[in-house]
Amino acid sequence: MTDAAARSLGGGRHRIVIVGGGAGGLELATRLGDRLGRRGRAEITLVDKARAHLWKPLLHEVAAGSMDMGHHELDYLAQAHWHHFRYRIGKMIGLDRARREVRVAPVLDEAGTEVTPRRSFAYDTLVIAVGSVCNDFGTPGAADYAIALDTPEEAKRFHRRLVDACIRAHAQAGPLRPEQLQIAIVGAGATGVELAAELHRTTRELVAYGLDRIDPDKDVRIHVIEASERILPALPEHLSKGIEDLLHSLGVVVHTAARVAEVTPQGLRLASGKEIPAELVVWAAGVKAPEVLARLDGLESNRINQLVVRPTLETTRDASIFALGDCAACPWPGGKGNVPPRAQAAHQQASHLVRTLERRLAGKPLHPFRYRDFGSLVSLGKYSVIGNLMGALVGGSVRVEGYFARLMYLSLYKMHELALHGFAKVALDTLARLLTRRTEPVVKLH
Ligand SMILES: Cc1cc2nc3c(=O)[nH]c(=O)nc-3n(C[C@H](O)[C@H](O)[C@H](O)COP(=O)(O)OP(=O)(O)OC[C@H]3O[C@@H](n4cnc5c(N)ncnc54)[C@H](O)[C@@H]3O)c2cc1C
Repeated sequence: MTDAAARSLGGGRHRIVIVGGGAGGLELATRLGDRLGRRGRAEITLVDKARAHLWKPLLHEVAAGSMDMGHHELDYLAQAHWHHFRYRIGKMIGLDRARREVRVAPVLDEAGTEVTPRRSFAYDTLVIAVGSVCNDFGTPGAADYAIALDTPEEAKRFHRRLVDACIRAHAQAGPLRPEQLQIAIVGAGATGVELAAELHRTTRELVAYGLDRIDPDKDVRIHVIEASERILPALPEHLSKGIEDLLHSLGVVVHTAARVAEVTPQGLRLASGKEIPAELVVWAAGVKAPEVLARLDGLESNRINQLVVRPTLETTRDASIFALGDCAACPWPGGKGNVPPRAQAAHQQASHLVRTLERRLAGKPLHPFRYRDFGSLVSLGKYSVIGNLMGALVGGSVRVEGYFARLMYLSLYKMHELALHGFAKVALDTLARLLTRRTEPVVKLH
């Protein structure tokens, strides 16, 4: 099909296809839908392998059971209807740059019956925003015995196994096996550390709902294993020290300079030969972009499969294809290497691309993206939020903690919600969640 023929199928309007409706892609689809789709200036299509969106930084709360997904999930079909874009389900499995088509796998239901066939979507401009997955570096046993928090399904699976482990231990007549109620988290970046603190609280809450044969202080043990010399290696040293002290005070066992050599059904074996018994293993160390990007019809990718982009977010070998978020290797002048894989980067890049694609449609030159690092905040559940804020306003980098830090931490999610829903709906939803929280268990029990 020629480009002109493909355009005519779309009614002659410029077709923007966005693959991946996550922290960055869904904001972009929503805002382009409101600005261009509503006025018929372009046809916006979002393709995602999932049916609903959940902001990824909430996944450790789903895994720990401190958050009910149902309150935060957003149906793509509904969002598309409200914001003037089209949503099509499917997993991108390839690309035909000559024909300007994205190839999508068939969608099957639980019984294996086909819901949608293998199909293609034609584009004039393509934005790839498929995020990242955990990188287990090929560690033996990791794929079989460790859970990665890449999707809501995996987070829910971890939570179900956690509840099962508690119920099993409570019901059993004999003594606990060495690995029972032991949880190992591989990777002490923000995800691993936040999950450890969240699990410390929720296992106690869970047991308090009547599983009284378990003594959390004696029976439940959380291990965090980190290959670097210290936890949170991306944060300033004084912050990682403060957070490690807090974890120690909670009884979380922190292993630094410890490389995992193998994951087994009974736990972990470290490169030093030391064994850490564990009933549940979470892999939260390192990220890579999905494999499909490594061989995407000649687009340039790096060793962790990210698409290499110019400062304008155009891919280096095709100016009609853009990439954003975790799956893009975007230069960060003045920073260390590339823009880091963070929600705040995906959010900023989505905002930049809204303006960029409007300029592209108008035939104007594109501006480079500049990442602004506002700092990092690590939430230790109800215990504390600690981090550093960056920027000219605060005169470099300052440590923040307590109520103010918690507000800043929450504001990142609120910014995402505001981009998707606008102020009135976010205010009402926030109020509704505050009210229902008082009538529900503080931890998910199933
Ligand atoms: C537990 C956890 C906690 C985190 N906490 C923080 C935090 O506190 N602060 C912070 O800044 N960052 C945090 N992050 C990182 C943050 O979540 C990511 O940087 C951010 O979500 C990246 O946004 P994205 O749009 O690139 O990708 P994502 O948000 O991951 O979205 C990718 C989308 O692409 C879809 N997709 C994937 N493959 C395909 C395919 N082949 N075809 C079609 N669709 C596909 C997925 O279904 C998904 O909807 C955390 C991550 C995790 C896992």
